[in-house]
Amino acid sequence: MHATIQPERLPRAVHELVEIFAKNDRKAWLVGGCVRDLLLGKEAKDFDFATNARPEETRSFFRRTIPTGIAHGTITVLLRGMSFEVTTLRGEKSYSDGRRPDEIEFVDDIREDLARRDFTINAIAYDLIKDELIDPFGGQLDLARGIIRTVGDPLERFREDGLRILRGARFASTLEFRLAPETEAAFEPSLDIFAKVSGERIRDEWQKALKARRPSIAFEIMARTGILRTIDAELGAYAAERRAAFAEALAAMDRLEPEFCIRLAALLRGLHADAGSSAKTAEALLRKLRSSRDEMRRVPLLIRAASTLPELERPEQWRRLARLAGHDEWENALAILRAFHPEKTKDIDAVRDKIRMDLDSGLPLTEKDLAIMGSDLIREVGLKPGPSIGRILRALFDEAFADPTLNERSVLLERAKALSKE
Ligand code: ATP
Ligand code: MG
Repeated sequence: MHATIQPERLPRAVHELVEIFAKNDRKAWLVGGCVRDLLLGKEAKDFDFATNARPEETRSFFRRTIPTGIAHGTITVLLRGMSFEVTTLRGEKSYSDGRRPDEIEFVDDIREDLARRDFTINAIAYDLIKDELIDPFGGQLDLARGIIRTVGDPLERFREDGLRILRGARFASTLEFRLAPETEAAFEPSLDIFAKVSGERIRDEWQKALKARRPSIAFEIMARTGILRTIDAELGAYAAERRAAFAEALAAMDRLEPEFCIRLAALLRGLHADAGSSAKTAEALLRKLRSSRDEMRRVPLLIRAASTLPELERPEQWRRLARLAGHDEWENALAILRAFHPEKTKDIDAVRDKIRMDLDSGLPLTEKDLAIMGSDLIREVGLKPGPSIGRILRALFDEAFADPTLNERSVLLERAKALSKE
């Protein structure tokens, strides 16, 4: 009835690792996401192991190891060009702040280790030597039915670690599963604990949710259960008060390629009536999530560039989009507009062709794209170094931006001469 794991399809290094533990009188089980994904017939992203060997023992069994997370019992083992996280079986006692367990205790029973895991579908272990699944919480049944359910009492489990509610929303979208009703009902009463979760951990989950085929599932759940307003009040208000616009943003997100910045720009583009305010809120949100500098630059830029649909007959409109987005992002800005207006795909493709032709014929998007630079003005036009150089370059840029055919060395030098006499 249930799906099974086919041991012969696992990499040789996985077999070898398990055998090395056996030879040393210890056991290693495959656990967590890889067991779940293999049972779903998907490729496993990485193979994680749980073992009854202590971390020092694990280190002594292999030639190449890294003490990645030795404090919580995790050793990275390098074998046959692959790397595996091997974690000593843990029970978890108390959680006082809803973020991190206070104390780690090592245990000998795989079932105890599975009991501390978040969802039943993530709490299945696989014994490769016996070809046997250890599934004390009905994870296989939930996998077959497409249900996300906590191991044990949801409220208790969410109050131990507030991040779990966001993980639940994330798995709902990456797996396209439903939340068990009791599990979802415990989201709201856990928001105060969720509020203590760090920005980095939220970002990691968003990153994963935004790679899903339908990220909208996760964001719909976040909106419905209050996670969104707990992360950011303005985003929460957007989802709650402007439901139609928010729903359109979610649909647009699903249509876009699975790229963090592009999809996030689609989500946040309609936050406020004007693009400038939306871009500012987006930047503040990304800062809260400890996003990279590059993300904090790209998302607001895409929001500004994709704020309005340029008309085909209005070159100044699509040139403005290209200038705001720049060489690397203008096609992404158009992709966002296409995702919001799928019925206008043809028009938007025509705009894309116009911009391409413009760029081919010399349309500058920054002063760096001009066919001359400041030093040419000094050498060829005889200008003195100083503020007049910048002023003339700006004027030349404006002219070439309005008419790309002017972006030619001799033409620009002539214009510079004329401008310097004004
Ligand atoms: P992914 O495929 O996205 O990596 P995953 O299930 O492997 O999903 P990880 O974050 O890599 O997720 O965690 C590995 C395993 O550790 C999970 O399957 C789960 O059993 C356990 N786990 C991770 N985070 C938590 C948590 N916050 N609370 C309880 N168990 C957790
Ligand atoms: Mg994982």
